[in-house]
Amino acid sequence: MESEIARVQTAIQKTAEQLAELYEKAQKEGGESSAAIVEVQQMMLEDEDYLDAVYHIIRTETVNGEYAVSVTGDNFARMFEDMEDEYMRGRAADVRDISGRLARNLAGQEDADFACMEPSIIVAEDLSPSQTVQMDKEKILAFVTVHGSTNSHTAILARMMNIPALIWVPMNLDEIRTGMKAVVDGAAGEVIFEPTDDQCREAEEKIKAAQDKFRLLQELKGKENVTSDGRKINIYANIGSAGDVGYVLENDAGGIGLFRSEFLYLGREDFPTEEEQFQAYRQVVQTMGEKKVIIRTLDIGADKQADYFNLGKEENPAMGYRAIRICLKEPETFKTQLRALLRAAVYGNLSVMYPMIISAEEVMRIHDIAEEVEQELKKAGVPYRVPEQGIMIETPAAVMVSDELAELVDFFSIGTNDLTQYTLAIDRQNQRLEDFYNPHHKAILRMIKMVVDNAHKCGKWVGICGELGADLALTEEFVDMGVDELSVAPPMVLKVREKVRAM
Ligand code: PEP
Ligand code: MG
Repeated sequence: MESEIARVQTAIQKTAEQLAELYEKAQKEGGESSAAIVEVQQMMLEDEDYLDAVYHIIRTETVNGEYAVSVTGDNFARMFEDMEDEYMRGRAADVRDISGRLARNLAGQEDADFACMEPSIIVAEDLSPSQTVQMDKEKILAFVTVHGSTNSHTAILARMMNIPALIWVPMNLDEIRTGMKAVVDGAAGEVIFEPTDDQCREAEEKIKAAQDKFRLLQELKGKENVTSDGRKINIYANIGSAGDVGYVLENDAGGIGLFRSEFLYLGREDFPTEEEQFQAYRQVVQTMGEKKVIIRTLDIGADKQADYFNLGKEENPAMGYRAIRICLKEPETFKTQLRALLRAAVYGNLSVMYPMIISAEEVMRIHDIAEEVEQELKKAGVPYRVPEQGIMIETPAAVMVSDELAELVDFFSIGTNDLTQYTLAIDRQNQRLEDFYNPHHKAILRMIKMVVDNAHKCGKWVGICGELGADLALTEEFVDMGVDELSVAPPMVLKVREKVRAM
């Protein structure tokens, strides 16, 4: 036990040294306010109550330091979360952050500094969406992880950026060192550490062949998404941040069918302000000119966590307090985002889309809140425009009442990732269930058809923005069903166009 305590003390020292370095860096690059955040964490690391609790757990429960630090971190964070004072509530994220760093140091894990790395392959146990959004995408050559799922948001981000990502790779991470050479073949699902000269040559040939194929696809730029018998479909792209618009234009998408706005809320210490959001949305719609930009309101929760939301632990987060449920329960957060959206709508072809809808009542409540925001902006003399408003169809409930919902909204966009998860009762994050997670299941395809028919009966258009929209094996079926739009990862736009034109 005492040796475990000594181990914790060594880790505390290492953590303190890291924080001192971070403090200097923050002061130089981010100014006093960034440095103050580090300072709060330095104080916590010296806090006697916190340290006593860690030592007490080790002594009384005969557990290791990592466990004691993690439990103490959770307990203290919860205590802060319950405080009246808003500033103190915000400190919960700091406790979690410092406890995480301390536990990583105890476990001897290196703390990657993503900001200043060379172009690299990232090898990890797992990656959360909030870690992924913080990385400088220009510098990531590939992801290779032991855990993860093809339907997770980390995988979705990788797909959007056209970064090869291998998951579920059995590796001993202790044997993998920073600076090692590796070849990742995304198409074959293979990684070779310390490749031979022959293996490197072979990889270079494959890269060249892929580049040739890529060049051929480029010839489809500027061409229509039209079948040989004249049927047309819109092909839009999915993005996660304002900085991703480059991928959309580069791949000649007709618009943005899903801007996952919650990524603006990840990887930071506090809520983005109305002004920050307004600037981000305006930048996207202005850059896209006349092309449609569909911004989905905050879909936080489940695998997309931001500590300052204080969502707490849930038994069943995918079915929990998330997305529109948070927005309806905490309308001030929702209204801030809606204000930013209505203001940004003045600058281009912006539409708003609401996630995780299950009933007509929810849509009516949303409209009431949106109307309140409109009246407030009008009264304050702030320029705004009420955009087209649609909903995501990603729960079986929404499918079954899609006839009623179609009357209330301007469009539908089918979120097949969640629709598959909820229809098949299969957690999209659980890698053990990947063999069962079958988005081609007849139930899903029939649901899509039903939604399309109900939308069209009411004169509304309908798209698919889940990953299934890019599934080339289904493109023909979707066109036959009458789907009006497919919104896919930007690197898939030209491939789907090629498929449509070959029909
Ligand atoms: C979906 O569920 O299909 C979807 C597009 O939303 P997300 O993947 O962000 O949950
Ligand atoms: Mg979803």
